Amino acid sequence: MAKQAKSAKPKKPAVKNTPDIKPFWEVKSLEEMTRQEWESLCDGCAKCCLHKFIEDDETEEHDELKPTDYINEGEQMLYSNIACHLLNDKTCGCTQYAKRTQLVPDCVRLTQDNLDDVFFMPPSCTYRRLREGRGMPSWHPLLHKGKKAAMHKAGMSVRGKILKDNEVDLSFYEDYIVTWPLDDID
Ligand code: SF4
Ligand code: SF4
Repeated sequence: MAKQAKSAKPKKPAVKNTPDIKPFWEVKSLEEMTRQEWESLCDGCAKCCLHKFIEDDETEEHDELKPTDYINEGEQMLYSNIACHLLNDKTCGCTQYAKRTQLVPDCVRLTQDNLDDVFFMPPSCTYRRLREGRGMPSWHPLLHKGKKAAMHKAGMSVRGKILKDNEVDLSFYEDYIVTWPLDDID
């Protein structure tokens, strides 16, 4: 006797292939980003809160240190492990973010209008990486639900490595020159 074939189960609706949605930093240039997108790119490493020094031929050893916003060809920017006194050395956040440029006139505020100043930022700075076409680093908080743990673990922030500028004599800056702020990975 012939068996009656059971009716086939209704097929599940086919899953529609949706095109991959790329993150904004892969599809927009820095100039095209919204203010919110721009602000979210900052990894919070605080390397930009370190004091940097440029040794030049014009300045004598006994001259006072002078702030500058330019670097001549052939001069080298040296990083120190001395950070701004307004930095929270545990969170690596600015304790006076809203008033930072009033309280610290030398505080570099990178915006979409002064992107050329990005060279003042360390090589691992996300703005500099994107500007130079090097992409987002794997440890960036945006790739870790906004958490900074991966960045600290990768050694890309200043946490645990700094002194404050109200604790040291800046005229002895040579004793505090370090190379770790120049480190970058992937
Ligand atoms: S170095 Fe760049 S990414 Fe890091 S805290 Fe400063 S501005 Fe943000
Ligand atoms: S004022 Fe704040 S953001 Fe500016 S250098 Fe100091 S700690 Fe960093």
